[in-house]
Amino acid sequence: SEALLTVKDLKTYFYTSGGVSKAVDGVSFQINRGEIMGIVGESGSGKSVTSSSIIRLLPAGTGKIVSGSIDFDGTDVLALNKKELLSFRGKDVSMIFQNPMTSLSPVFKVGHQMTELIRTQQRVDRQSACRMAEEALMKVGITDARRRMDSYPYELSGGMCQRVIIAMSILSSPKMIIADEPTTALDVTIQAQVLDLLKEMRKTYQTAILLITHNLGVVWKMCDSVMVMYAGKTVEYTTCSNLYHNPLHPYTWGLLDSMPRLGSESEEELSTIQGTPPDLRLTGTCCNFSNRCPYASEICKSVVPELKELEPGHFVACHRQCEEGGLVRGGVLRHE
Ligand code: SF4
Ligand code: MG
Repeated sequence: SEALLTVKDLKTYFYTSGGVSKAVDGVSFQINRGEIMGIVGESGSGKSVTSSSIIRLLPAGTGKIVSGSIDFDGTDVLALNKKELLSFRGKDVSMIFQNPMTSLSPVFKVGHQMTELIRTQQRVDRQSACRMAEEALMKVGITDARRRMDSYPYELSGGMCQRVIIAMSILSSPKMIIADEPTTALDVTIQAQVLDLLKEMRKTYQTAILLITHNLGVVWKMCDSVMVMYAGKTVEYTTCSNLYHNPLHPYTWGLLDSMPRLGSESEEELSTIQGTPPDLRLTGTCCNFSNRCPYASEICKSVVPELKELEPGHFVACHRQCEEGGLVRGGVLRHE
């Protein structure tokens, strides 16, 4: 299928008085039309910074895209001026954040915000805009749409607000939605409903979705492809099926081992990866995972591993996995 978004060697650094933090350090990937891609990793891995870089929504002053390219449907995103950027964010790409309140204004009623959005995009009168807003709310399962339109965001639950945001996305018919932990703040049943709604959007409108999550369960449910990030770098990138059936990077194994077991009531992580991620000001001289990796050898501590295609469509950045024989999850070498 056809590429919608192509990101090449993206580097986004943060310049602080304490030094330069390499939040995203050479990340490449592609999303096709109608594809759902997941970026998974712990907090601080660079997944959110990657997604905000795509829409160039970085903290003014400190965050800076220092190199790389971002092509969206033939448009060079890094070359857009302020005005073009606003239209790109409104029409081509929609964003759904963990906290829906960041996308809604607290001082206007939901209906007003929706009709205003419609009227910035299309020449329609207020009444038609109202009808369109109501229809969009019905599409996301809000049956008492009229009443909800007359509410302020704070009068709605978190799940209801997230539906409103998705309804607003439907109205802009974007080519891609960036959803950054869209369900993390919601309770479990509502989580499933919101995820189903996003899947439905992909099916109906061929919307591509970039889904940022720390939850591999969400990845299995939603994604076609997935990139695992660690300390600003891609450690593994492949299809969801490959990652599920044949995960290859030691960090991915750690994430899998820390997933709650199926059927377990508790959201608590069972085992966690020992140690902490490196200081992002000091990375770039070794494998970023080497201080935590049970398989680390000398080369891991002195050479940065490159992302290599170990099997068709399956990219891994690990020295030892690329050695003859490679690693097997659990610690036994395949050919020994
Ligand atoms: Fe572990 Fe070395 Fe692979 Fe890094 S390169 S993940 S330290 S085995
Ligand atoms: Mg985040």
